[in-house]
Amino acid sequence: MKAHIIDERIIELNSLFPGAFCLLSKDDESFLYVNEQLVELAGYGSPEEMMKRNPDFRDIVLPEDYHPLEEIFSRNEIDAVTRTKQLHFRMKRSDDTLLLMDGVMKAYRLQSGHNIWMVYLIPIHAASDRDPVTGLMGPETFYKEARKVRISDSLTEINTFHTSIYFNISNFKLYNTCHGREAGDLLLKKTASLLRTYFPTALITRLTADNFAMLSMKNDPKEAIECVSYQLKSYIGDPSIALKAGIVYPTREITDSSMNNISHFTDLAHLACESIKNDASRTWAVYDDSMGNRVNNRNFVMSNFEIALKKGHIVPYFQPVVNTVDGKLCSAEALARWIDPDRGMISPANFIPFLEEARMIPRLDYHIVRETARIIRERVDQKLPVIPCSVNFSRVDFDMGDPFLFMEGIIREFDLPRYLFHIEITESALTQDDELLRHQIDRFREAGYEVWLDDFGSGYSSLHVLQNFNFDEIKIDMAFQRTKTEKSRALLSSIIALAKNMGLHTLAEGVETKEQADFLKSIGCEKIQGYYYGKPMDKETFLIHCNEKELYRRAE
Ligand code: C2E
Ligand code: CA
Ligand code: CA
Repeated sequence: MKAHIIDERIIELNSLFPGAFCLLSKDDESFLYVNEQLVELAGYGSPEEMMKRNPDFRDIVLPEDYHPLEEIFSRNEIDAVTRTKQLHFRMKRSDDTLLLMDGVMKAYRLQSGHNIWMVYLIPIHAASDRDPVTGLMGPETFYKEARKVRISDSLTEINTFHTSIYFNISNFKLYNTCHGREAGDLLLKKTASLLRTYFPTALITRLTADNFAMLSMKNDPKEAIECVSYQLKSYIGDPSIALKAGIVYPTREITDSSMNNISHFTDLAHLACESIKNDASRTWAVYDDSMGNRVNNRNFVMSNFEIALKKGHIVPYFQPVVNTVDGKLCSAEALARWIDPDRGMISPANFIPFLEEARMIPRLDYHIVRETARIIRERVDQKLPVIPCSVNFSRVDFDMGDPFLFMEGIIREFDLPRYLFHIEITESALTQDDELLRHQIDRFREAGYEVWLDDFGSGYSSLHVLQNFNFDEIKIDMAFQRTKTEKSRALLSSIIALAKNMGLHTLAEGVETKEQADFLKSIGCEKIQGYYYGKPMDKETFLIHCNEKELYRRAE
């Protein structure tokens, strides 16, 4: 034993550690000292026997697990603030069985001037908690270990904390479908092994399916994330399937207030990861508070939506659509508004995406259609003038139910003609060769409803949509009003001309100024919708507004 170079004090101090422990020379990772527990775990009779059979630390490590450790050993940092490093490996025992070990180690300079590693090890007994697919520690162990690390973070002087990272393989299901389950498992294995390679000191677990959580030592993990993602990309060979990461840098404040709540950080990292799910250009996102607000909003929507529907807090507002030729009203668009007694008006942007995600949007859309029909019926009964209303349907409505049959039911229930309803379907709802939607659109039109293409020009495949689906009218996206260049004017003129050639009616959205309205009229756009003629309003305000602005046609 080379214990003579070691202070007795070090061994004494470390004998307080309730587990396996050893000291290694920092030059060659040879054993300087092993304690009784380690000798016992490794299955030897004495420290001498163990060190004779295994002179170096690597001799007790399964070779394939040694590679990530090698990187830690090779780093040449040694000073008072050297941070602890995490270790995970399978230990080879004297009888050739394997034992999973987790631990930490720290570099240290002895009084004699020698540099050593102090290595503390704990066997992971909860082998059932180990992920059989990737070999990573199970979530339960992860949370347990992570909590310990976090506590030790809060005790250190340095203001750096471990970073929480969440990983997800976007479109992993697609990979499984195309290549089979076995290949899917291999991809998970590959991901785990790359994560281990690039984050040798991190705690890593697979939470579910293709979701990984990590607690990393790196101050800046972005480069390592890019490397893992890059390597995976070439392994997968399909750009639509890619690794995404969400990063949370804990500050001392949040760490102190919710130090033990590791799952809280994992949730936040998850949110950051979700925020770039559909952004092909991004690999990682750092959590910020706006993402937290999003969770709050989502929670609010999910727990209050049904009650709000029942209490009548969700109502249609109406925005006028005006004919450019005579400046008179030709229809209105019904737009959902949630008027909460405490929070005030909640805009659709703050609840529709969550309802779509949760596939609850049909509840909203059918409610808005029904309320709109009720309002039209009232006006017919009161012998007031009525105008057609357009209603919005989401893609999810068509996937989950039959909006056409629903509309037919409404027509019968309120005894109204079909021409009073225009169906708006947004361009982004339509994918290539979408038989279902093509059929649904035709069915609506054959029955006598007008079907309008919403947000035309906002996607990548506008012309393809025009070619493959039959619409009555296109609503040109409001983005076209925002730019005033010669080019954008030319583009608008060509869109109008193109639509005319194809026998489509035209409506421009988001028109706010007289200048925009005049230009649209001059190039032959038939209808205008926008703040210039009125914002969305509740049904009473809509009546007053249209009377004041003399938008109603006299004959009506
Ligand atoms: P959209 O269908 O494109 O509706 C037009 C949006 O533009 C409305 O926002 C409207 O208030 C706004 N807008 C109209 N004129 C102007 C203008 O001149 N300038 C500006 N800056 N904005 C204007 P809103 O009501 O917030 O609705 C946002 C989106 O939410 C709608 O876009 C639609 O996609 C969706 N939505 C609203 N109500 C419903 C609904 O009942 N069902 C479904 N599925 N989606 C709905
Ligand atoms: Ca719309
Ligand atoms: Ca629109």
